[in-house]
Amino acid sequence: MSAPPAFRVTFWGTRGSIATPGPSTLFYGGNTSCVEVRCGDDLLVFDAGTGIRALGLALVKEFQGRPLRIHLFISHTHWDHIQGFPFFVPAYLPSTTIHLYGSTGQGVSLERLIKGQMASDYFPVALGDLASTIELHEYRGQPFRIGDATIAAMYLNHPGMCLGYRVTRGDRSIVYATDHEPYRHTLQQLGERAEAGQQFGAQLDQEIVAFVAGTDLYIAEAQYTDEEYPARLGWGHSSVTATVEVALKAQARRVAFFHHDPMHDDRTVTAMIEAGRRLIASRGASLECLAAREGEVIEI
Ligand SMILES: [Zn+2]
Ligand SMILES: [Zn+2]
Repeated sequence: MSAPPAFRVTFWGTRGSIATPGPSTLFYGGNTSCVEVRCGDDLLVFDAGTGIRALGLALVKEFQGRPLRIHLFISHTHWDHIQGFPFFVPAYLPSTTIHLYGSTGQGVSLERLIKGQMASDYFPVALGDLASTIELHEYRGQPFRIGDATIAAMYLNHPGMCLGYRVTRGDRSIVYATDHEPYRHTLQQLGERAEAGQQFGAQLDQEIVAFVAGTDLYIAEAQYTDEEYPARLGWGHSSVTATVEVALKAQARRVAFFHHDPMHDDRTVTAMIEAGRRLIASRGASLECLAAREGEVIEI
């Protein structure tokens, strides 16, 4: 008999920037970032984009009023990563406890960031009025444990404060690191210090590779095609080649493209995976490359 999976990963929202429902995005999905990870008895959720609404409905059905404890990890508070939270039904139930993890903003507490989008000018229900118990945990730089899993985080290269997460359980791990751009591309914009900037950037890029090293599933954005990327330098996102290169250097087992660009229809996303696979084949590597699809479940 094979051992039970260490993780059961479900993609509830795979889109970046803004939800894009419609016939041209049916296959990969139009909801923004939300990934559920079942980890033994623990329930981990990464980001609260519009995809979290459907997750909430599924959880209410599954738990039927039994106590529900959720560990919700926010990468950062751009709209596409938090906008579903006010529509997350379990947050309205007294039987729910939500541990919410994330970074402070620039001089702003996590609490203020989360409360902000539910201020009365934007939404009719305030965070404090929700019936669930919500405990906020600001990231302090140290790995910590949930059950028998270890959670580590690191800051990514994105406007504002954005965290990537790594979950390790036994000999398995997954990395959720979206909204990131290679440092070497952005730090070389430093005028006459360009070369020094590029070198320092390459060093910082190595830290991402170390964070992803050997993971079983690297959920990473590859928002832009290689052709699109030069016109979007400094926007805080990656090209197909940049993402595949991190996965290859890190010797990840699988890379899942995530945070699909709202301008990309299903055909474009499929073409991007094909480009990724060609690059991997040209290096003679065995890395598996896929694009995250809303509703897809992966066991690890
Ligand atoms: Zn985003
Ligand atoms: Zn962002």
